Amino acid sequence: MSKSSALVTGASRGIGRGIAVELARAGYRVAINYAGNLEAANEALGLVRAAGGDGFIVQGDVAVAADRDRLVTETLAHFGRIDLLVNNAGVGPKVRADLLESGEESFDRLFSINLKGPFFLTQQVARKMIEQAPDARGFRGRVVNITSISAYTASINRGDYCMVKSGLSMMTKLFAERLAPHGINVNEVRPGVIATDLTSGVKAKYDKLIIQDERGITPIRRWGTPEDVALAVRALAEDRFPFSTGAAFDVDGGFGFFRL
Ligand code: NAP
Repeated sequence: MSKSSALVTGASRGIGRGIAVELARAGYRVAINYAGNLEAANEALGLVRAAGGDGFIVQGDVAVAADRDRLVTETLAHFGRIDLLVNNAGVGPKVRADLLESGEESFDRLFSINLKGPFFLTQQVARKMIEQAPDARGFRGRVVNITSISAYTASINRGDYCMVKSGLSMMTKLFAERLAPHGINVNEVRPGVIATDLTSGVKAKYDKLIIQDERGITPIRRWGTPEDVALAVRALAEDRFPFSTGAAFDVDGGFGFFRL
């Protein structure tokens, strides 16, 4: 049987890179999408190969329709099918601006990259998955969306980010319902505070909140890592949750429950 194949958006750095490597360890062939950082993408490909996997890199801005077409076309050209789509690519606001001050440019950028891109990419890949034959386990495909604790946590200095992550959470449920009759499970992995380039600018703030404060914001008192998130994605990719769809899997050190 040929190896399963995955398209991971934003796989050149951070969480996406971690996911690509973990999927390679699980025997997946991986299409490593990146936006502009060719060097990082090549590094990620090197790590995928070192993990015993295979793959290729593909440039593309998920916010741009022609680029999304290319991601799908190239992945199919290399692998013949797409067993797993991981919508990971995402950006934060360039400036964390108060809700009463934040501008349209940031709003449009975040909605385009973090929500419009994943929506139309999923639509396109889902059509292909529906056409392809089921694999040995009866799955025509799986989709995993990387959302955030910001899907349900209000941060008034990046409201745009919270709104798109909340939208991505709803998108998960919508596609889960639509694709269940086709044997395609769609789930959400919800990271907490993860050490990547995205959070490097706010390191001191979260060091204090997680580690230095008397009672940290997370019961597990450390930063999350890309590998933490990647292991959850791998479990979904390997069908460890065959009866779960539209579900949110928290990878957040326990951030998300009430404490007293
Ligand atoms: P990161 O380290 O900044 O990496 C972002 C990745 O996305 C890079 O590979 C980048 O490619 C790619 N990318 C950016 N814009 C893109 C676009 N328009 N089209 C295609 N790819 C694009 O970010 P991260 O922390 O790993 O975050 C990954 C995902 O996890 C995001 O959706 C983020 O919202 C989510 N998340 C992160 C955290 C956290 O604490 N870090 C927490 C919760 C959720 P280049 O290398 O080419 O720039």
